[in-house]
Amino acid sequence: MAGDADRGADPVPRAELIAANLADVRARVAAACAAAGRRPEDVKIIAVTKTYPASDVRILAGLGITDVGENRDQEAAPKAAQCGDLGLNWHFVGQLQTNKARSVARYADVVHSVDRDRLARALGARARAERRELTCLVQVNLDPESVEGVLGPRGGADPRDAMAVAAAIDAEEGLRVGGVMAVAPREGEPGEAFDRLNSVASRVRDRYPRATVVSAGMSGDFETAIAGGATHLRLGAALLGDREPNVG
Ligand SMILES: *Cc1c(COP(=O)(O)O)cnc(C)c1O
Repeated sequence: MAGDADRGADPVPRAELIAANLADVRARVAAACAAAGRRPEDVKIIAVTKTYPASDVRILAGLGITDVGENRDQEAAPKAAQCGDLGLNWHFVGQLQTNKARSVARYADVVHSVDRDRLARALGARARAERRELTCLVQVNLDPESVEGVLGPRGGADPRDAMAVAAAIDAEEGLRVGGVMAVAPREGEPGEAFDRLNSVASRVRDRYPRATVVSAGMSGDFETAIAGGATHLRLGAALLGDREPNVG
């Protein structure tokens, strides 16, 4: 990661470092799209800014990033407020408890982690109260048999329940079914997992034609995700540097 090499006596200014990381990521996205016969403009980069300050969000916005992601409401709510002038789309990508729906519905444009009916109902009620429309993705657990690992629960609906969760979202005025999201399992081939996500994505799209988002791909696997049809990448470390272990 570029950040490590630069931790010396003569640090590169943060904005330059992030600009270099973003240029590198964009080049890799373009190459992966070319290899997959896809158009780079069909793959959106969501900068996941968790653990990094609002000043980094501002730098990213200055570099043309329009979409940012966060995984904890306590951190996201104040950051979104501090960056309210930037006109960004805010993506909530983390595990979400129903009691946080009220807060998230105030600033999030897209919630990637809707994995149960009750959460859809809570978000729907809060979206209506705020007079906002939220796009919701059905988070799919691609590893339903796994025990929770060192990073804690990753959430997601069993693939067999994905259509029911999509229907629960669709039933809520104020919510729109946007597509699907997943985190690749820790074990096994991410490509195979993304193929399984795609089959869920196409079932959801058959039923809800506007639900075109396939949110897949993180810093460690985004090229594979592009080959597998991802439309939205959620990139943290590749843009901003490695986080402390065990944070999100
Ligand atoms: C942190 C996080 C990301 C970004 O991960 P990186 O490996 O830093 O790119 C993507 N998706 C979710 C759900 C996350 O919590």
